[in-house]
Amino acid sequence: MTQQHHTILIVGGGAAGVSVANNMRRQNATINIALIEPSEKHYYQPGFTIIGGGAYTLKQTTRNEADLIHPTVTWLKDYAETFQPDENTVTLRSGETIGYDYLVVCPGLQLDWDKIAGLKETLGKNNVCSNYSPDTAEYTWECIKNSESGTALFTQPPMPIKCAGAPQKIMYLAADRFRKKGILDKFNIEFCNAGPAIFGVPFFAKALSKVVAGYGIKTNFNHNLVAIDGPAKTATFEMTDAEGNKQQVVKAFDMIHVTPPQSAPDFIKKSPLANAGGWVAVPDKNLQLNTYANIF
Ligand SMILES: Cc1cc2nc3c(=O)[nH]c(=O)nc-3n(C[C@H](O)[C@H](O)[C@H](O)COP(=O)(O)OP(=O)(O)OC[C@H]3O[C@@H](n4cnc5c(N)ncnc54)[C@H](O)[C@@H]3O)c2cc1C
Repeated sequence: MTQQHHTILIVGGGAAGVSVANNMRRQNATINIALIEPSEKHYYQPGFTIIGGGAYTLKQTTRNEADLIHPTVTWLKDYAETFQPDENTVTLRSGETIGYDYLVVCPGLQLDWDKIAGLKETLGKNNVCSNYSPDTAEYTWECIKNSESGTALFTQPPMPIKCAGAPQKIMYLAADRFRKKGILDKFNIEFCNAGPAIFGVPFFAKALSKVVAGYGIKTNFNHNLVAIDGPAKTATFEMTDAEGNKQQVVKAFDMIHVTPPQSAPDFIKKSPLANAGGWVAVPDKNLQLNTYANIF
């Protein structure tokens, strides 16, 4: 079998991959570019927050991948599975091996729903919602729209996550909805963050502390969601105190918005491109690998 070879090979056709492919095409009409992307649908993920807030539909945030990729970019509709950087090849799930001169790796983050015990069984029902999946963002709005009183929990896992603001943005949209309906005082809204502060950047943390206070939202820091019992409407957090001691805290909820733990995709973690944390090992200020200069 003749091996396909492309000058530029891109792994992942999300916001990053499509932008790279199309921008390169605009700058150079003839260069040979291929994009590996298994999904026929492209989601504008920042719109998921707006879906959860009731102002967008899923359809409005969804595009056909085919309509976004420049027609002269070769679309390989498959998963990249393994990297052979010494041979300048990537192997697809189909078993086909693709050669490249330059490789751009951008398959996004992996959502680790399984790290929260009981979550998969109850997500999308029992008032357990999440904007982090196209399958459940519309249910977030159902939960908010139908809530009249009670405890509303909003969780944030340990960093890194995509969109550090998203776990809070949906909380403010919910609080605003309750305020507009004149029922904000019937709610106990709590932000439960695995991290130690409202936001990692002090400048924004200062402003957000005022927003939180304005809605009467209670903040619980160093509270990492580890389990959910949907039918019983309880969420279990691992709480770390100032001395580093851990204890389990169980909170009852009427609705809960969950931001799942996130990590590098498994196929990246076990690849020769990964650093100790599993991420593609690029220098802080330059997205070009030190180990393989033709990989970005
Ligand atoms: C709820 C929510 C709210 C957000 N709000 C904002 C916001 O307000 N502002 C903001 O800037 N950002 C926001 N973001 C983050 C933003 O959407 C992401 O940063 C952005 O989508 C990242 O682009 P990406 O191309 O790296 O990854 P993605 O867009 O996730 O794309 C990755 C692509 O890689 C593909 N892929 C995965 N595995 C493979 C494989 N093995 N082989 C080939 N392809 C593969 C996937 O199918 C996917 O198409 C939000 C995200 C969420 C979930």
